[in-house]
Amino acid sequence: MFCYHCQEAKKNKACDTAGICGKKAPLSSLQDLLVYTLKGLAFYAVKAQESQLDLTRCNQFSVRALYATVTNVNFDSAEFVGLITESVQRRNALAKQLPAIESVPEEASWQYDTIDEKEFIKKGESVSVPSLANDEEAYHGLRESLVYAVKGLASITHHALMLGEEETKFYAFIHQALHFSLNEHSLEEALALNLECGKLGLEAMTLLNHANTNRFGEPIPTHVHTDVWDKAGILISGSNLQDLQAVLEQTVDTGIDVYTHGEALIAHAYPAFKRFFNLAGHYGGAWQDQKNQFAKFNGALLVTSNSLQQAKKTYIEKLFTTGMVGWDAIPHIANQTSNSEKNFTPLIEQAKQNTAPTLLTNNIITTGYGLQSLLALTDDITNAIETKKIARIIVIAGCDGRHKERRYYTELAEKLPKDCLILTCGETKYRFNTLEFSDINGIPRLLDAGQSSDFYVITQFLHALQKSLKIESLNALPVSFNIAWYEQQTIIMFLSLLALGIKNVRLGPTLPPFFNEEILAMLDEKFSLKGIGTVEDDIEAMLKGK
Ligand code: SF4
Repeated sequence: MFCYHCQEAKKNKACDTAGICGKKAPLSSLQDLLVYTLKGLAFYAVKAQESQLDLTRCNQFSVRALYATVTNVNFDSAEFVGLITESVQRRNALAKQLPAIESVPEEASWQYDTIDEKEFIKKGESVSVPSLANDEEAYHGLRESLVYAVKGLASITHHALMLGEEETKFYAFIHQALHFSLNEHSLEEALALNLECGKLGLEAMTLLNHANTNRFGEPIPTHVHTDVWDKAGILISGSNLQDLQAVLEQTVDTGIDVYTHGEALIAHAYPAFKRFFNLAGHYGGAWQDQKNQFAKFNGALLVTSNSLQQAKKTYIEKLFTTGMVGWDAIPHIANQTSNSEKNFTPLIEQAKQNTAPTLLTNNIITTGYGLQSLLALTDDITNAIETKKIARIIVIAGCDGRHKERRYYTELAEKLPKDCLILTCGETKYRFNTLEFSDINGIPRLLDAGQSSDFYVITQFLHALQKSLKIESLNALPVSFNIAWYEQQTIIMFLSLLALGIKNVRLGPTLPPFFNEEILAMLDEKFSLKGIGTVEDDIEAMLKGK
């Protein structure tokens, strides 16, 4: 096993015996083989696109399959056996529609003898990341970074598709990037495609944001309570708001309260959710705290996107997954079909057998600074910057995680001078979103745009601010970016900033293990990329625009 997909890779090198996330070696091999076969599928998909063949099903399959390999999404071996099989079958079907090709890479020609998990695991061991490392280390790192970024892009694209929104350019790029990874290219070409992925990632976030606002309305800044009511409840963790809406609809008048967890917090700010009297509040914090928090919730639990951890005995029988999320032995709510909606009855029946949640905290969190709310503040913030009431805006965005070093983000928010605004999105905000921040001339010092994918909102707002301040580039704005990465969607967030030409981005709490010294030197030279240091040093540097 070799996996360095995420920020929690063992010793910041790689998980080599079992994943810190709970991924075991056999599952890691199945995921490696799936990516291997998807590269083979991409080999033909790129050619099929040139021949203008219909790729609709193939496109949606590649995105779904890649999303399954994102950190903390799916731990069910049977799911991966099915996806590998489908990948090879789809590839073979595409190949048959194209004229014969002379030179075909092994990824595009490998066939299984039988559909057998053990055979797949054995093959997967032979195509793991180190086995592909017969090229220069720096190129290898950028190629892997591209694959992880493509997984992040697939994750966003998949969520938009679940809301009925798609654009073929994302599918085309995903296949192009996987196809690219089959061969060796120059470092410059590999970096350029990473940046292109960042650019597409931001565009995919735009699509997902539009899908959410079209479906649920424009978010409104909202105070969300974290205390508990006195009835049994359902706790929904993850970014899929469609599932949350369906559960709320199916629990109206059942006496069951519904709470949000992790990335679901933003739901409270959408008008479509405000009509549900049984949307009781927000329970707990970020994904990595779920083991304790799920146990104390007492009721039924549903994980809808990439935040699943190995369940503890204390709550495993109350836990359900849905969508692409899965773990052997955890009941799964089947996806909707063209004829039927998702049926959450097993989840609701489980909730009825339980008691009310145990109180964890009794705070009020403010979220919901969506695009229109932030744009409405543009004039006030412009004025406050021009009159030196606001010295700097610090964007602290991204994922949360288990490492103790992430205490840095709490201290950073605490110690920033009172004339600094904080813009945030994603789960890293749970490090500081219950602190007191006051305001500057009536502008709240902490502005939470929502989920990781709402990073698009922050970039759009900064473009508006740049125009309002009549500043020639985003880099000239009094803004610093401090990005906390964990999984592949935050790789996209980071690459999107580089694609925008933003310099002096801080990426922490550790730099990605797939960026070796040569890559880091390259990113330093082109973008002045930084890791994090001490809070005091970083604040001093950011206030100087460094
Ligand atoms: S996803 Fe992260 S924690 Fe899990 S095996 Fe890979 S590097 Fe380790």
